[in-house]
Formats: sequence, structure tokens, C-alpha cells
Amino acid sequence: MKPIVAIVGRPNVGKSTLFNNLVGDKIAIVDDLPGVTRDRLYRDTEWSGSEFVLVDTGGLEPRNNDFLMAKIKEQAEVAMNEADVILFVVDGKAGLNPLDDEIAYILRKKNKPVILCVNKIDNFFEQQDDVYDFYGLGFEYLVPISGEHKVNLGDMLDIVVDIIGKMDFPEEDEDVLKLAVIGKPNAGKSSLVNKLSGEERTIVSDIAGTTRDAIDTLIEYKDNKYMIIDTAGIRRKSKVEESLEYYSVLRALKAIKRADVCILMLDAKEGLTEQDKRIAGIAAEELKPIIIVMNKWDLVENKNNTTMKKMKEALYNELPFLSYAPIEFVSALTGQRTTNLLEIADRIYEEYTKRISTGLLNTILKDAVLMNNPPTRKGRVIKINYATQVSVAPPRFVLFCNYPELIHFSYARYIENKFREAFGFDGSPMMISFESKS
Ligand code: GDP
Ligand code: GDP
Repeated sequence: MKPIVAIVGRPNVGKSTLFNNLVGDKIAIVDDLPGVTRDRLYRDTEWSGSEFVLVDTGGLEPRNNDFLMAKIKEQAEVAMNEADVILFVVDGKAGLNPLDDEIAYILRKKNKPVILCVNKIDNFFEQQDDVYDFYGLGFEYLVPISGEHKVNLGDMLDIVVDIIGKMDFPEEDEDVLKLAVIGKPNAGKSSLVNKLSGEERTIVSDIAGTTRDAIDTLIEYKDNKYMIIDTAGIRRKSKVEESLEYYSVLRALKAIKRADVCILMLDAKEGLTEQDKRIAGIAAEELKPIIIVMNKWDLVENKNNTTMKKMKEALYNELPFLSYAPIEFVSALTGQRTTNLLEIADRIYEEYTKRISTGLLNTILKDAVLMNNPPTRKGRVIKINYATQVSVAPPRFVLFCNYPELIHFSYARYIENKFREAFGFDGSPMMISFESKS
């Protein structure tokens, strides 16, 4: 599990500039899902061999002072609860601001490590005096930096890595399937967890450690054990509406990263919302197996034998990047079909961790290529030689060919479909890449 490092601070101190420069060249590696994560706020980052998730707390519009104050406080609270390390950014050029004091006050309340980043110190020798004022905020770590000109960022990251290195991250139990029940507030996540656990079977374990205040729920069903990750926290309601989204996204991200299988809860009565799509997009990008759950099935009126089919079609239409995810219709209130989710989770996790023998894989590949050759491009004939599965969880396949750069996205999709027809991989994402013959 990767630690979370959150950037907080009032508007215009240079948070986004810092975020972008810290994640820098890594951005190009991930293809963002269209329309889902355009303005994404987090990236996997690495420094000196230590991996962590860097989170930008997002832009705050200074509409009016009271509103701004409320939002900033909330943002700082969220960071306090969710992050392992906090980068508190202030503007060294502008000097200490009453809003900085407010944030500092919140950040001091808990014992999370805070690194005070005095930003916009483009030239330390000329701006030394600008830095001193900030010592008064009383944080253990203070680093003058320039996010824009990349001054001292290495020193700052060294401190982050040092702090992370000293933290305890609890070991995860191998025999337990970890489920993240994700979805927007009121989708019915807690109701589902309550239904599935039933009081006598529940063992609520408070996992200690610096990394989270989460409460995981252990469930036993038909001799199998399941751990439902941190759903209690998602319930906490937000005071200021706009930060609610940021809050639930960060919360969901943490749960998704730890999970073996994601259970995406939707409100059947309400239908799919933008926030649902965004959370679905995160689970897809994290390459986890996913079950889409239409909850509150009891509230859907005038159901007939085509209702499910129509809903499924509509969902896959709106979530094309989850075409592999099974859809189940449940009522967390009555318990209708809820235990099916555990059985589906077992099944798709098995798919996710499945390995196909190279011989069989290549038989299917040969057939697929025979039926539909990669189109000739730029006068070149593309020849695919062989395929191999390079990993499980998620399953990744590499296809060796003479001109990998000429393979069109739609051809990769064709191969994926052929592999899925032959091998299943229901509920599991699948990665297919083309490389030149080694
Ligand atoms: P945010 O609102 O905290 O995300 O701040 P932004 O990253 O949008 O930056 C606000 C302004 O400060 C922009 O005009 C940046 O160009 C400027 N800025 C950011 N970092 C630095 C820096 O290190 N030095 C200087 N001189 N300007 C900076
Ligand atoms: P969470 O915020 O996602 O944890 O959602 P909750 O579990 O707190 O549920 C929000 C509201 O929806 C509560 O009033 C629940 O009783 C209600 N609810 C949850 N699941 C169902 C369901 O399947 N059917 C009906 N009718 N109501 C439900």
C-alpha cells in the first residue's frame, strides 16, 4: 500500500505548479480515460526508490472570504484524515497570511507529519528574510522551495521519503479477499456492509498504525473470508458541498488501492451520475477487477423481464471502459442478491489472477490473426509473431511484432476481444501491448 502525500494551502501559493512539476514527466505514461479524469488530482510518484501517491487538493476559487475560509479548513481536515504526509505550501513572496495561520492551526491538531514548504523562493540568497517569518508557524520541517523553478524540490522530497521510511505499514492478510465498496454518498455502501456482515458474524477490527484511521470489516461466508475496506469513513458528510467530491474521491482512491476487488455501488433509482463515472474511472485506471452494483432495486417500479437488460445496456454505454465488469442488481435494504456479490468477487478475482499457457495463447492468437490480419499501414506489412502473458493481477499480454508502433488501437481491442472470448477474464481488466521482436 502506497502512502499518501497531500498538498494543501490557500489559493495562489503555487500548489498546482508544484504538483505538476513533481509528477512531471510521469503524466504521459498513463492514458487518461476520456471525460472521466481530465482534472485528476493524484498521481503515483516515486523518489529515491520510494513510491507514494501525490494528491493535489484541487483549486479553490476565492469567491468570498467566509466561503473560502470554510473550504480551506475543510480541505485541511481532509488532508489530516487521509494523508500520511502533508506538504503545507505557503507563499514566501507574499509573506504570512491570516489564512496560513488558520490552516496551520488545523494541521497542528493531529500528529501527522507536516512539511512547511515556503514556496516562490526562487533565489534563496536574496529572499532569506522572506523565509524567517514562517518559522513562527512552529512546524518541525521547513523547506524553502520554488515549485516553478524546481529549486530545492529534491531536499523536500528527501524529507518526505525519510518520513515514509520510518512509518509502519501493516501487513495484509493473504487469505482474505479485500473488497472496496465504493460509490458516492448515499449509494448504500454502509447498508450493504451491514447486510453482509450481520451482527454476530462481524469482527470489527481497528487496524492501528500511522497510515489510516479506517475501520475494516471482516466477513465470513461459506468458509471464505472477506475484508471490506474502510466504508465507515465514506459516510462522513461534508459541510461544504464542493469539497465533498474531493473527499469521496480521495477516500475511494485509498480503498481501491488496497482492494483485490472493487464493488461500485450505484443508486438504481437515481441512475448514473458524473461522480459515479469519476469513481468508476479511478477503479478502472487502477486496473482492479470491478463489480457494478445497481442498488436499491426494491425502489425501481414497473420492473419487467427486460428492465435489467435495458439497464445493463445503458450502463455499458455510459461506462464503455468497464465493458468487462459484471453488473448485479441488489437491495442492500432487503438483502436481495447481496451475497451473490461475494461469490462474484471470488470468481472475478480468480479470473484476474489467471495465467494462460503460452501454447494455448498462441493457438488463439494465430486464429485471430488468420481471421483478421493487422491492416497494412504506410505501405508496411505488419506481422505478429507470438504472444506471452507477462503478469497476472492484472493480466498483461505482450505481442511481439515487426512494427509495434503501427498497430492501431482498434486492432489491440480486436485481440483483446478474441482473448476474452477464448479465456474469459470476466470482471478483470486486461492489458495488451505490442513490442518489437526481441
Ligand atoms: P495554487 O492556486 O496554489 O494551485 O497556485 P498556482 O500553482 O496556480 O500558482 C499561482 C501563481 O504563482 C501562478 O501565477 C504561478 O506562476 C506562480 N508561482 C507558482 N510557483 C512559483 C514559484 O516557485 N515562484 C514564483 N515566482 N512564482 C510561482
Ligand atoms: P452510503 O452513504 O453509501 O453508506 O449509504 P447508506 O448505506 O447510508 O444509505 C443511504 C440511504 O439509502 C439510507 O437511508 C439507506 O437506508 C438507504 N438505502 C440503502 N440501500 C437501500 C436499498 O437497497 N433500498 C432502499 N429502499 N434504500 C436503501
